[in-house]
Amino acid sequence: MSSKPFNAYAMAQAQFDKAADLLALDQATRDLLRQPMREYHFSLPIRMDDGTMRVFRAFRVQHNDARGPGKGGIRFHPQETVDTVRALSMWMTWKCAVVDVPLGGSKGGVICSPHSLSLREQEALCRAWVRAVARDVGPVRDVPAPDVMTNAQHMLWMLDEFETLHGGKYPGFITGKPVGMGGSRGRTEATGYGVVFTLREALKELGIRPADTTAAVQGFGNVAQYAIELYQQIGGKVICVACWDEGDQQAYTYRNKEGVDLAALRKIADRFGTLDQKKAADLGYEKLPGDAWIEQDVDILIPAALEHSITDDNVARISKRVKLIAEGANGPTTPEADHFLHERGIFVIPDFLANAGGVTCSYLEQVQSNMNYFWERDEVLGKLDVMMTAAFIAVSDMAKKRKLYMRDAAYLIAVARVAQACKDRGWA
Ligand code: GLU
Repeated sequence: MSSKPFNAYAMAQAQFDKAADLLALDQATRDLLRQPMREYHFSLPIRMDDGTMRVFRAFRVQHNDARGPGKGGIRFHPQETVDTVRALSMWMTWKCAVVDVPLGGSKGGVICSPHSLSLREQEALCRAWVRAVARDVGPVRDVPAPDVMTNAQHMLWMLDEFETLHGGKYPGFITGKPVGMGGSRGRTEATGYGVVFTLREALKELGIRPADTTAAVQGFGNVAQYAIELYQQIGGKVICVACWDEGDQQAYTYRNKEGVDLAALRKIADRFGTLDQKKAADLGYEKLPGDAWIEQDVDILIPAALEHSITDDNVARISKRVKLIAEGANGPTTPEADHFLHERGIFVIPDFLANAGGVTCSYLEQVQSNMNYFWERDEVLGKLDVMMTAAFIAVSDMAKKRKLYMRDAAYLIAVARVAQACKDRGWA
């Protein structure tokens, strides 16, 4: 049993160190890549609806921009820490490199609980965040996007503030904008669909038909909902979803062994993906403990919530039937749990490959914003599929060639690309 407190940054560094050893990286490159190049920590004073002032702590961490401007989302979360944002910024660098888009890695966060903020307060927070870093981000420096508990509306408020400050139109400043306001068709579904593009390829390699599989999903936010949508379209059956319940301050797993009805669940979910307990019961779903998703008798697990969900405390509870794990979340699996999964021979599609669909579509959004011409949804999703499939095949070929665990193979490709860019620029 693990008693250590979890630190995402320590985990990201441990993963990096392993890749650096495999690549025999020199000391200067290691020193450059195992920590962020720049970080901004700031306070955001906000006038609340009741007239009082409250101060929120916020961050932007720029891990590495050797391959292009920094890129990565902004999270609104009550448990946000700078170490989590540091880890997430590192994972963004590897994510952009593994899908080979010309972008670096960044991440932002605000310590806040959007559940208890009005829309006006959220708008004030978005605008204040941009004012605090307006000189250090931008289309050619660092490009934010949505992430946990932020959405297209937040992005538009941020864009509006940036454009007001800089006196011009800069649609390339931010991605995940609303369609019609510089956003790309397909961006909302891109991360979840991307998870399933890689899942489909992995099943092909394993010689398993999607229609013969069942899955358990952790999370019911944007990533989980669209992963379920496409997985069901290719014939898969999801038997449960787990989600956080803000009222009870704990998570629950909602199960229907015949398969969940996505449209019905969407109707009883709030904007954060929390299901209404009573309505779920009326629809016949069993309510199980929050971590029950991990021990279901299924072929596939899709952790699509937050970091630190498959750990040495629960990894042994994974059913013998599970053959594949597709990580929709960032950092869901600890290195200790990885060791166990590797030994068990479970095929893992690692986070920064599986969930790269979001940032890949963000890249396509930037291209469209820059040329001011927007593609149809099928064209966007078709390009996304080609890019995700190519990245999956490159990682899986590397894993076979060097007899590596999939996560290590993905790290090898991504870190080598970033290290080369640093070397070529004369940074290391
Ligand atoms: N927040 C998403 C991620 O973790 C998307 C980032 C982006 O589009 O820049 O990959």
